[in-house]
Amino acid sequence: DFNALVARSNDDGGIDLASEAVDIGFLPEGEVTIAVDYSSVNFKDALAVTPKGGVAREYPLIPGIDLTGTVRASSSPEFAVGDQVVAHGRDIGTGRHGGYAELAVVPADLVVKLAGLTTAEAGTIGTAGYTAAMSVERIVAHGITPADGPILVTGASGGVGSVSVDLLAAAGYEVVASTGKESAHDLLRELGAAQVIGRVPEAGEKVRALGKTQWAAAVDCVGGTTLAYVAGTLRYEGIVAASGLAGSADLPTTVHPFILRGVTLAGIDSVQQPSARRRALWARLGTDMKPRHLDAITTQVDVASLPGTLRDILSGSVTGRTRVRVAGG
Ligand code: NAP
Repeated sequence: DFNALVARSNDDGGIDLASEAVDIGFLPEGEVTIAVDYSSVNFKDALAVTPKGGVAREYPLIPGIDLTGTVRASSSPEFAVGDQVVAHGRDIGTGRHGGYAELAVVPADLVVKLAGLTTAEAGTIGTAGYTAAMSVERIVAHGITPADGPILVTGASGGVGSVSVDLLAAAGYEVVASTGKESAHDLLRELGAAQVIGRVPEAGEKVRALGKTQWAAAVDCVGGTTLAYVAGTLRYEGIVAASGLAGSADLPTTVHPFILRGVTLAGIDSVQQPSARRRALWARLGTDMKPRHLDAITTQVDVASLPGTLRDILSGSVTGRTRVRVAGG
């Protein structure tokens, strides 16, 4: 038997979370069995344990959309017992049991061998940090260079946001970090933000589809009026890497930024991304794109305190990345 945090639906339409001893038969089929060191808390993990959150396929479910640890058994020639790995994506933690357990069984194509990163560092990066790296890679691929002007990061104190600030600053960009948290200003400057501003749009500010142009590019995980504001304030042929809906899933804008200013709305998806690209980007996260301030953004919690942390992240009140110590470290 091993310990797992299990989400079960109850008779009142709610979801209960409790630590349970489960056996290996509880886990799904899969090529790679991993002894889990760390998982993490992502916005989606909270949705997975929220009634009608639209993320979990069925209960009981061991949540945890990412996990890091050591290969315990593998029927895939790509992995050997003892390999240190990270796994995330597709239905891990939503449609099959995830990382909030001492053991996980996952498909081989979702597993990435770690190089240049400890399991603790990869746990901090997790899905949100990986998504930040995808966002930055997309902006660079669009041809945006530091000489083009400032880059706006919204939801900057959160997981996707804080790692984006770190990565963009390291790459030499002038980063403007937008946050609703006064308490996060010092951290964001430490990560390399040249300027820290409040949330955009400001409370009561009218969002125009064609506003005053300010940014060469942007990383947005907030959606809603924030993404509309971003689209309307990007410079000619600017790009926004849009990955999230922490604020809203709506997009209240018009086609004008796209057809009159050549703005690109680049959708970022870490979930279905093919294995080869996933592995290539993790390799960069261990080398030339290794985040410089992982310690500064890490809060480590035990599985026992997860119910509280999962509640906090939905209200937008979590700063940085929350790493979950499952075993090991
Ligand atoms: P997070 O740590 O909670 O970060 C989200 C941040 O957004 C918050 O810290 C807050 O930052 C800001 N925010 C929250 N509520 C807001 C609101 N109502 N209005 C404006 N800003 C608000 O969450 P995360 O794990 O980084 O995930 C962020 C989003 O990206 C989620 O929607 C998640 O589902 C999505 N995501 C998508 C992918 C993908 O593959 N597409 C992968 C990972 C994450 P401030 O307080 O600093 O403003």
